[in-house]
Amino acid sequence: MNPNLVEDTHALLLELKRLRSEGVREIYIEEDSIRGLEDAFPSSTPIAQPIEAKKDEIPNLSSSVSVTPTPGNKQEEPEPVVTFAEPANPSGSLPEPPVLELPEGTKTEQWNWLKDQVLSCETCTSQLNPNSKVVFGSGSLDTDLFLCGEAPGAEEELKGMPFVGPAGELLVRIIEAMGMDRASVYLGNILNWRPQHNQAYGNRPPTQEEMSFCLPYLRSQIEIVRPKVLVALGKTATDGLLGHDPKRRLSDCRGKWFEFEGIPLMVTYHPSYLLHNPSKSSKRKVWEDMLMVMEKIELPISEKQRGFFL
Ligand code: URA
Ligand code: URA
Repeated sequence: MNPNLVEDTHALLLELKRLRSEGVREIYIEEDSIRGLEDAFPSSTPIAQPIEAKKDEIPNLSSSVSVTPTPGNKQEEPEPVVTFAEPANPSGSLPEPPVLELPEGTKTEQWNWLKDQVLSCETCTSQLNPNSKVVFGSGSLDTDLFLCGEAPGAEEELKGMPFVGPAGELLVRIIEAMGMDRASVYLGNILNWRPQHNQAYGNRPPTQEEMSFCLPYLRSQIEIVRPKVLVALGKTATDGLLGHDPKRRLSDCRGKWFEFEGIPLMVTYHPSYLLHNPSKSSKRKVWEDMLMVMEKIELPISEKQRGFFL
């Protein structure tokens, strides 16, 4: 038995609370760490059972922490993702998704038309927090690379620009490490607004309904840009582009090629996951995914670039 078990467990609990207070809804846990925890608590309940956190210990936050069991096949290892409860009333009910038909014209004309549609979309504006803006995609319309995130965060909703907060800064550093810059790629999101929630800080992942409502806007942006490669950043982008699949594990599908309407789609972790899990091995995983993207769009790759985060 680990003599520091009580202290270590307390430290882990504090870290989980800190993450939750920052709005993190899902955390990835390496299989080895799960095994370590199982060894530390040999007679405890299986990890796939919901764990109720004591309400009075976590003021201001929703009440349960649960480890998502893998649906279906009981032989499989449990999915190592901890999901925090969602606020009770995310956004009420939304109308049917918009039906969009891009007008004839140049890419820029089509993009300007679409941007007007999004900025004046009544459903989008009805979902905004006070003093906030709808966030449309931005970047080059002639790029080979379209990166798709989840939804605007606090900084993005204030500025009305995607990826301008801490996760965005990290994403831009990744793009620069690939030899490009922010203006030479296209940055979009599954959602055009920051999902409202009733916590003081943090972000709420979009609901299925919110994602379905915004999908036509994202699809039209992809249709205009027609990139060689799409990158889905994190679980929400992956579910939004590939359709929800309860059996999908991000750890299994990252680093692999999928397709969205005939366009090769690479799945990788979200930069905010890297901010919370800044280990060399997580960074290397994302970097290996980006190396595959660079190969696909035929960017030159130096030996130095190949060796980043090794
Ligand atoms: N995270 C996202 O997924 N999108 C943004 O625009 C900013 C942060
Ligand atoms: N889990 C997620 O939901 N997103 C990530 O980027 C990584 C793990």
